[in-house]
Amino acid sequence: MNKLNMIALTLAVSALAACGNKETPVEPETPVASSPAAIEAGGGNPVAEQASEEIQGDYMRTIVEEISDDRYEGRGPGSRGDEAARKYLAEKMSELGLEPGAAGGSWEQAFDLVGINAAQPPEWTFDGHGQSLTLKQWDQFIAGSGVQQERAEIADAELVFVGYGIQAPEYEWDDYKGVDLEGKVLLMMNNDPDWDPELFAGETRLWYGRWDYKYLSAARQGAVGAIIIHTAPSAGYPFQVVQTSWTGVQFELPAGDEPRSQVAAWVTEDSARELVAMAGLDLDELRERADNRDFEPVPLGVTTSLAMDVEIERVQSANVLGLIEGSDPELKHEAVIYTAHHDHLGIGTPNEDGDVIYNGAMDNATGVAQVLAIAKAIKALPNAPRRSILVNLVGAEEQGLLGSEFYAANPTFAPGKIAANLNYDGGNIWGHTHDVTFVGLGKSSIDSIVNLIAEEQGRVVKPDQFADKGYFYRSDQFSFAKIGVPAMYLDTGTDFVDRPPEWGRQQLDHYTEVNYHQPTDEYDPSWSFDGMVDDALLGYWTGLAIANADELPSWNPGDEFEAARLQALDAVED
Ligand SMILES: [Zn+2]
Repeated sequence: MNKLNMIALTLAVSALAACGNKETPVEPETPVASSPAAIEAGGGNPVAEQASEEIQGDYMRTIVEEISDDRYEGRGPGSRGDEAARKYLAEKMSELGLEPGAAGGSWEQAFDLVGINAAQPPEWTFDGHGQSLTLKQWDQFIAGSGVQQERAEIADAELVFVGYGIQAPEYEWDDYKGVDLEGKVLLMMNNDPDWDPELFAGETRLWYGRWDYKYLSAARQGAVGAIIIHTAPSAGYPFQVVQTSWTGVQFELPAGDEPRSQVAAWVTEDSARELVAMAGLDLDELRERADNRDFEPVPLGVTTSLAMDVEIERVQSANVLGLIEGSDPELKHEAVIYTAHHDHLGIGTPNEDGDVIYNGAMDNATGVAQVLAIAKAIKALPNAPRRSILVNLVGAEEQGLLGSEFYAANPTFAPGKIAANLNYDGGNIWGHTHDVTFVGLGKSSIDSIVNLIAEEQGRVVKPDQFADKGYFYRSDQFSFAKIGVPAMYLDTGTDFVDRPPEWGRQQLDHYTEVNYHQPTDEYDPSWSFDGMVDDALLGYWTGLAIANADELPSWNPGDEFEAARLQALDAVED
């Protein structure tokens, strides 16, 4: 960060100091009224501070309660609940005085989705070495269609264990070693190598450790199918999340010319153990071999067939966009984009209480509410920030970040003109914290801004507390990072005020095990919105600092997204 930015930031932040903080009283700094940043932030710091008081728990509560209600039927993409939620959110933006942010003066940026509903067979049989093994759908395997066609089929294809299924030249890692895998079914481990900090960022899960990479990697080899071996540590969630997320209609953006396999499946660890045992092999021993650069694919001498009828439907969903135009005649062509996904899983498999509505209250009505509260505060400034602010409530996130991916391919600001993306996905429902989680910390110049502001809040910024779960690649900021935009995803802290140290982690783990992507992710009036107010304030001040700074944020040198940023900046140079 250059010196000018630092000054602008300090000034934007000093307004926060002036308002103090209940937990940690802070000595107010004298606001410098002559600072362009302070003035542009809204006529001086006290004004920006006053506007920040618009961030209220009750306002957020109303929004969460509304769109997680059963009437919205879990906001499945393309459903009437999805449409109703979009309409409600556009109304909320209009109430706040935002301008429609999509092309043609519309609130909605519509996109097509292909809904794929594979009739998964009740059983899946594997033959070899004079034996036969039959796995049960739901309990032992989940199989989806890899193609947007009315039938997905593999016939007498051979199973090959391919370790992690990763090709990463920058780590001199290639699990395929040039072996011809055309027409095979690849049995793959989840996650990426995590025992060496120099290799695949150690315990941090990279894109290589995500299921979407695995299936794409298999398709690139010409494989007809891919089976990921589920373990809770390597996936970051229990098998029930696979069961509920991979059954029913799966949505994708319309297929392009990317390679595709017929079948994309998961099996439980025990089933994988039985599969490789047919070949007289031991799964633990195979996995040990795979933890090595010298690993080579292991044909199992087991063949399998699977055919599924697939129902294909075409529906539309939309991102809901609201704009606050910047006050600087030049910089208003650049934007800070706040995102939160408005969709959830819709109506699906009943849980044991017979509930079929996946309300998605925490995931992600809370994120939507925080972003709207931030917009309310920014709108309350007498003068808009120098750069524009785009509120982008994206659709179809749960199906693979589809709404944000569509936006990234069809942006309303050129990628090189997008200053930053600040994303909210899942709010803190348990109260004030001493810390806040910044997923993506250590990657860009946004770090120093967030650190300063959090400090003024009396809080510490921590990196992703569950780095092994790969959250940076699991929410919408990833779509922006891929087109080069420096991005931040703010998530719940774990160190709760007036609670024992381990309490926060217990709440988060319990949520993941019991409510995450389940019909029980429902609004509860006992939820505290105090933590969400703190996190929204952090996003408000961060957005203002970025929107008012002279320079755009940048990725740290050598970051995986730096090259994309330089390309995007090049493309908009006059
Ligand atoms: Zn989410």
